[in-house]
Amino acid sequence: MSNLPPDIQKALGKLVYLDEPTRRANSGDKWFANAMPDAVAFPTSTEEVARIVRFASQHAIPVTARGGGVGYVGGCVPVRGGIVISTDRMNRIIEVNPQDGVAVVQPGVRTAELQDACSRLGWFYPPDPASRKDSTIGGNISTNAGGPRCLKYGVTRAYVLGLTVVLPDGRVLTCGGRTHKNKQGFDLVGLFCGSEGMLGMITQAILRIIPAPRARAALQATFPEFPAAVKAVQAVLQAGHLPCALEIADAFTLQAARRHLGDAIPADACGHLLLEVDGADDAVATEVRELTQLLTDLGATHTQAALNEDDIEALWQLRRGFSESLKATGLTKLNEDVVIPRSQLADFVQYCADLQRENSIPIACFGHAGDGNIHTNIMVPRNTQGEELRSRADALLHLLFAWVLSHGGSITGEHGIGLAKATWFPSAIGSVAMELHHVLKHALDPQNIFNPGKMQL
Ligand SMILES: Cc1cc2nc3c(=O)[nH]c(=O)nc-3n(C[C@H](O)[C@H](O)[C@H](O)COP(=O)(O)OP(=O)(O)OC[C@H]3O[C@@H](n4cnc5c(N)ncnc54)[C@H](O)[C@@H]3O)c2cc1C
Repeated sequence: MSNLPPDIQKALGKLVYLDEPTRRANSGDKWFANAMPDAVAFPTSTEEVARIVRFASQHAIPVTARGGGVGYVGGCVPVRGGIVISTDRMNRIIEVNPQDGVAVVQPGVRTAELQDACSRLGWFYPPDPASRKDSTIGGNISTNAGGPRCLKYGVTRAYVLGLTVVLPDGRVLTCGGRTHKNKQGFDLVGLFCGSEGMLGMITQAILRIIPAPRARAALQATFPEFPAAVKAVQAVLQAGHLPCALEIADAFTLQAARRHLGDAIPADACGHLLLEVDGADDAVATEVRELTQLLTDLGATHTQAALNEDDIEALWQLRRGFSESLKATGLTKLNEDVVIPRSQLADFVQYCADLQRENSIPIACFGHAGDGNIHTNIMVPRNTQGEELRSRADALLHLLFAWVLSHGGSITGEHGIGLAKATWFPSAIGSVAMELHHVLKHALDPQNIFNPGKMQL
């Protein structure tokens, strides 16, 4: 029973599991760190979470919240052991209420399930991380998840109206509410969005939902030169269009896609854009026509519009296949999610090409060009193992992050800091912001029991 007090099972009964298979199944996420918890709890309500947290607080036991476990930065990995609190059994959609424009959910609801429930009523929950079938609303709020549609609709924070949170001493906080505007005091809801499970455990969320757009369409364009695709990103926005998604892919990614997905990508393509627009039927049709003309004028050698659901899905399927195509190269893909001011996009991709040449490690860039959030995939040879892999990747990441920060960017736009980016976190935010993080953490969690060992806090 390792570091746990012997009376844990007496105090918490069937809420906690101590067996090895359950602990192992809750020890890691999609990054490559793992750590065994001493126990895993499966509460079903706020009251049960509060009971577990009070016990943990009395005994100074580490507590790590876990949603779908599909994070990319080791955020839910219990590096100091203790109790993992899983939200697997807190998976109820309590209410979808179009009259108030809210959905009330437990934190373990899968993102896609909520989207489907809203869609059945003609309503819309926009945040769309690519992991949405597996990720949870609690995980999305705690990482402030984004996705392609965030260009037009904003990230998860824009949809969180109210929260119930169990604080590290076991008290239950409710903040915000079910109104779309609320300016009562400090923005406590915002404090917990993106806090990566380090300030409290979210046990219920009130989310903003909006009417679903009546129509949508997608448009794919390929360019013989990558800089032309970058120029087109700016031109689309300058022309007054605000697509919900504006995705780009570089030549390395397209080459991998041609090998893996066949001839869906033209042989001469070195830059690829995928746009999605939505709104009223006529407006969408007009916008697709105008965008097709604009992109052709800007040098696109191939454009393809998708106006019905099947065709739109086929274009997104192709875009989603880019990630798989990179994995199929036989190289180990280390996915970073840096953000740069949009005007730096061409320079950034050129910098990655230079890094690639100087270090003999391929770097593939694709992602959310519209908001400058580029998934930068460092492709390490698969025979590079463990320590060697980490040190080669870290050396490259130092250079990459230094460039991003010196150009006004951020080392993460979606995935968070967790374990993966902890080394770079203090220099990324600066000493005063780091001090404030320490002050807030200490004020809410003086024993440092909530997700300890993350973010260098
Ligand atoms: C294939 C793939 C695609 C992805 N695409 C995207 C993308 O497009 N956009 C994007 O933003 N991310 C993406 N991600 C990353 C990841 O899916 C998101 O970070 C997601 O929000 C994690 O949700 P989760 O439920 O799996 O959280 P977990 O991984 O379980 O946890 C993540 C963090 O949240 C904390 N946490 C979880 N639940 C709670 C709670 N109830 N209260 C307090 N803290 C909690 C954990 O302690 C941890 O720090 C992707 C990941 C994969 C594997």
